[in-house]
Amino acid sequence: APAGKPRRISILGATGSVGASTADVILGRPDAFIVEAVTAGTRARELAETAIRLKARIAVIADPNGYETLKAALAGTGIEAAAGEAAVIEAASRPVELVVAAIVGAAGLAPTIAAIDAGADIALANKECLVCAGAFFLSRAEAAGVHILPVDSEHNAIFQALEAENMPAVESITLTASGGPFRQAPIDAMRRATIAEALNHPRWSMGRKISIDSATMMNKGLEIIEAHFLFGLLSERLHVVVHPQSVVHGWISYADGSILAQLGAADMRIPIGHCLGWPKRYPATTKPFDLVSVGSLTFEKPDLERFPALSLARQALSGGNRATNVLNAANEVAVEAFLAGEIGFLDIAATVAETLDHMAAASGSVSIQSVGAALAIDAEGRRLARGVIDARRRLEAV
Ligand code: NAD
Ligand code: MG
Repeated sequence: APAGKPRRISILGATGSVGASTADVILGRPDAFIVEAVTAGTRARELAETAIRLKARIAVIADPNGYETLKAALAGTGIEAAAGEAAVIEAASRPVELVVAAIVGAAGLAPTIAAIDAGADIALANKECLVCAGAFFLSRAEAAGVHILPVDSEHNAIFQALEAENMPAVESITLTASGGPFRQAPIDAMRRATIAEALNHPRWSMGRKISIDSATMMNKGLEIIEAHFLFGLLSERLHVVVHPQSVVHGWISYADGSILAQLGAADMRIPIGHCLGWPKRYPATTKPFDLVSVGSLTFEKPDLERFPALSLARQALSGGNRATNVLNAANEVAVEAFLAGEIGFLDIAATVAETLDHMAAASGSVSIQSVGAALAIDAEGRRLARGVIDARRRLEAV
């Protein structure tokens, strides 16, 4: 945007954890942004409050049952209300410079593609888009000539440390992981882990799904796939290092022996602010970060035995986009089943592993060429995963 001209943006998933951090960044610099659309899945009242605070033009709730509540809560504000999946897509397609893609799960794919097709740059939090349909997603972005700016803190770190002209000299990329709540837990404690224990992340405050993904380390597995698509490196050049302080978010090792890393507080407002200001850097709304008070930084190898999700993600990545799509679908179903008390914590990765085996038996690789094709594979992956869970539960009941 030219200097002084506010940037017009929309937020998909505005009521979530990333959505709330985005609102904070915007409210910290109200002159810099005009908000067009805000959307949410459910919780119409919260969405209305967000829309009012951000002075959005339109608020859209995906759940059609939320319409009356949304409309009533916005009465007299001049903010338009709409509901349903088609309305979310319409809102995502409104002309803006930047769309923050912060819906959780494969549900984010269709609206984010709609925003790309409409010509908006994307601040991408929804990593599942790339895991479900990475090559297709990027080809649409290229066709539309839009930028994909990574919000995910590790990928944002890499994006900041990347010297585009030296891309051929990149030897490897390392994503750090906090290790989650079970970094040092014995496997028996993990087997018996409660929902509350699994949600209790030591460093980041996030939505429920990604919090469970962090506890299984499937989040880091999804991030390896995300990094593969964003930065074009093969699995063997994408490393994961556990770094419990969550200060160094990621680094690039260059051929000349230099390592460029990005550091900062474990606060999503920093990578979000970076994407919202890019290519400029706006002053932060967060407190200055004091490395001396952190004192020391430690790094360790992830334990692949207790965290099989990391290897499952690499296995899926080597199988192609259909396999990564099924990995994601199975993981979404398994996380929901864990949160519903249907399966144990270690059953999450076991369900994903078994679903991937069923899929591998079923067919070869296919290339995904449309949102419909991606969602059809997603539906098949969910069906397979549900079958795996039901079979396990029947066995347990015997
Ligand atoms: P969240 O659960 O807090 O929020 C999700 C948002 O998506 C909510 O606004 C919800 O209403 C909306 N939504 C859910 N289902 C929907 C549907 N079917 N249709 C339309 N909208 C729907 O999740 P979050 O933690 O903010 O994470 C959002 C995305 O960002 C995820 O892909 C996550 O992996 C990624 N991410 C999050 C963080 C974080 O710190 N929270 C960090 C990095 C990446
Ligand atoms: Mg991350």
